[in-house]
Amino acid sequence: MTSSIVLLGAPGSGKGTQANQMAELLSVPSISTGDMLRANVKAGTSLGMKAKSFMDQGLLVSDEIILSMVEETLTGPDCENGFILDGFPRNLAQARALTDMLASYGKALTYAIFLDVPEEEIVRRLTRRRVCGQCGAIFHLDSKPPRQDGICDECGATLVHRSDDQEDVIRNRMKVYREQTEPLVDYYRKIGILRHIIGMGTPDAIFNQISVIVGKEA
Ligand code: AMP
Repeated sequence: MTSSIVLLGAPGSGKGTQANQMAELLSVPSISTGDMLRANVKAGTSLGMKAKSFMDQGLLVSDEIILSMVEETLTGPDCENGFILDGFPRNLAQARALTDMLASYGKALTYAIFLDVPEEEIVRRLTRRRVCGQCGAIFHLDSKPPRQDGICDECGATLVHRSDDQEDVIRNRMKVYREQTEPLVDYYRKIGILRHIIGMGTPDAIFNQISVIVGKEA
């Protein structure tokens, strides 16, 4: 059975961490539009140059850029047996476009899993989050510190504090989330595929709840 899953939740709700683990569990790719954009910014592509100023301010990049990037990925051979989407869709237009895009290939989403985390917790997590600039592994200075200060446990590269994880940009990202992304919870509830998880607790405890939903208890 294919598993085509959207992870919904505010920035810092744990989508990236869970997406990577779920991808392993289900043997499908985890697709983060944020990671794809950051790779483009790093490589200096024209797409990256268009996206950068929006990302730096915590604003959404245009639907046109995002949708063409996502469609190219989802129609590739890697996604034949499903996928985990992290950070997409981010607004109703993207959600509807995704539904239509999948329908045109005779496919549909299996679940939209909503990681529900209070805003104060989000700010605490993001200001203390560090990510690997090379392999994308995610750390937290309090709850998941790297073994060696500033160095990725997975690949040995340098960890960075994302420029959009600074407090003023986080506030903007939260505003964008509340206004544009949160309505997707209702959108997927109405379609009947929403699954709600309280995203507090250890990453392992949350992963266990997700595993039950997708029918693959560890
Ligand atoms: P993320 O890593 O998912 O927090 O994304 C980082 C930034 O990339 C966001 O603040 C947006 O500027 C941009 N971005 C990522 N995904 C999307 C999307 N689906 N639509 C629009 N902008 C996005």
